[in-house]
Amino acid sequence: MLIRIKGAISNCYLLLGEKPVLVDTGAPGDLRAILAAFQAHKVNPKSLALILLTHGHSDHAGCAAELKRRTGAQIAIHAGDAPLVRAGRNGVLAVQDTLGRILRPFVDEEFEAFEPDLVFEEGIALEPYGLRGRVLPTPGHTAGSVSVVLANGEALIGDVLRGSLVWPNKAREHYFCNDPGRNQRSIVRLAREGLLRCHPGTFGSFPGTELGRFLSTDGGGVFELSSETV
Ligand SMILES: [Zn+2]
Repeated sequence: MLIRIKGAISNCYLLLGEKPVLVDTGAPGDLRAILAAFQAHKVNPKSLALILLTHGHSDHAGCAAELKRRTGAQIAIHAGDAPLVRAGRNGVLAVQDTLGRILRPFVDEEFEAFEPDLVFEEGIALEPYGLRGRVLPTPGHTAGSVSVVLANGEALIGDVLRGSLVWPNKAREHYFCNDPGRNQRSIVRLAREGLLRCHPGTFGSFPGTELGRFLSTDGGGVFELSSETV
């Protein structure tokens, strides 16, 4: 079972397999919402098998240090973003549009720095943590961005793309992207997975077929431009 926990800015996800796994930890003020979700779904915080971060931005890693203290769970992150969490800073946050410029001051906050327990460079299998699925590197938004691809065809894609505030089941480019070319290749990688449903770090989920709208006809590097800005 997959539970979306809505934080002030972005989503965290609680995955309830044989053991509970938390994907992302919200912004620094989101601790209460995460603990409330544990309680609502009868998850003993001490039973948490892993805290996995899709990347090292403050609205995804903001409560990681405190949650590790409360749960004892290890924190995993890709090597490309480990420097961000060790510093407690977002680093480069390249805006993609006007809304990104407006939102940047709210997103670009410092958070409690920490040393991650598990730093990986390639994908990792999730079976040791009680889930059928794997972590797939999907860089571009940041150097160390990853997605969680579950065996049931669902995926947690962090900030590779976002959902739409207005339209259900629609994907949009994220407000921030440090390397659009690499992100494009990550979208291709995800599209090849034949996903049923994508769960982004911002707003609601969308079907895997939405990924196809962001690919050029030759699978290369052209984004579809959207007139919608929210
Ligand atoms: Zn981000």
